[in-house]
Amino acid sequence: MILVTGGAGYIGSHVVRELADIGYSVLVLDNLSTGHLEAVDKRATFIMGDVGDSNVLESLFQSYSIQAVMHFAASCLVGESVEKPLKYYQNNVVNTIQLLNKMLEHNIKNFIFSSTCATYGVPNQVVIDEQLPLNPINPYGKSKLMIETVLNSISESHDFRYIALRYFNVAGAHISGEIGEDHDPETHLIPNILRHLQGKSSYIEIFGKDYQTPDGTCIRDYIHVMDLSSGHIQALQYLLQNPRRKIAEIFNLGNERGVSVLEMIHLCEQVAGAKARIKIQPRRKGDPPHLVASSQKIKSLLGWAPKYDIKISIETAWNWFKKHPNGYKQ
Ligand code: UDP
Repeated sequence: MILVTGGAGYIGSHVVRELADIGYSVLVLDNLSTGHLEAVDKRATFIMGDVGDSNVLESLFQSYSIQAVMHFAASCLVGESVEKPLKYYQNNVVNTIQLLNKMLEHNIKNFIFSSTCATYGVPNQVVIDEQLPLNPINPYGKSKLMIETVLNSISESHDFRYIALRYFNVAGAHISGEIGEDHDPETHLIPNILRHLQGKSSYIEIFGKDYQTPDGTCIRDYIHVMDLSSGHIQALQYLLQNPRRKIAEIFNLGNERGVSVLEMIHLCEQVAGAKARIKIQPRRKGDPPHLVASSQKIKSLLGWAPKYDIKISIETAWNWFKKHPNGYKQ
């Protein structure tokens, strides 16, 4: 059985569905603070609970035979992390250490960790590979880097193997249109643009038009959530198929293509067939100007390859928002 923490969230729910599709038994642990029960695949066993609750973890590890843990439960908003750093160190660091402690106690050796490109900070290189120095500039990135450090240490001291995946910007929705992104409040760029184009807000804000980029707006690398999900599955299979190999790997997961905020607005306008009203705002705290991945390492080591381009990410997100104008609430 595979334990997926945060399996009711945007990314976790896509991974749970893919795990179930290929025949894994899945146990989801989620406190539903930001996730949605409706997003959890019916084939999975759902446990409502907190990763920071050692009693819940203890009973879970005693009751189920767990081969691997995929850990998505986390707080993940750059802006909020600047305003509420303790929330990030509590949820992302303290609670994860609690989980790791329980895993070691119960001799569970396989761990997939959701890390982030925010660990790189403001890199002085256009394309980011895993060798670049790590200088996160916001508490979110710092909290994830702390856990990468912890993982590295325990993999040296214990029979414990892990793969940390440094995500770039995740986008899109399941191709079926049945699960997608539903945050409250929504802060991410693509949902904000599409909801505006649906008439749900009177303008779309651009946070900073004075960056050192060709059009002055921030550049990000957007990866489709199903490609991200397949990266997790391949990482899991690599761990499970090589039970005796010492594995402590970090992989970037991105599309290797940069899209600026302004370009994204134009791409969304094309998909939605509507024109956006734009309002230029000051820069948002904690935003690096330019983050684009090299994903060569995971491509060559695991044979991962993204299937969906940015247009499909926008189209699947648009399809999700049209079918679910109020998200999971109907
Ligand atoms: N952004 C924006 N308007 C919005 C939401 C986001 O201009 O309504 C910008 C944000 O400042 C960043 C980029 O879009 O430069 C991507 O932000 P998002 O929150 O989607 O992801 P992040 O890069 O913070 O993980």
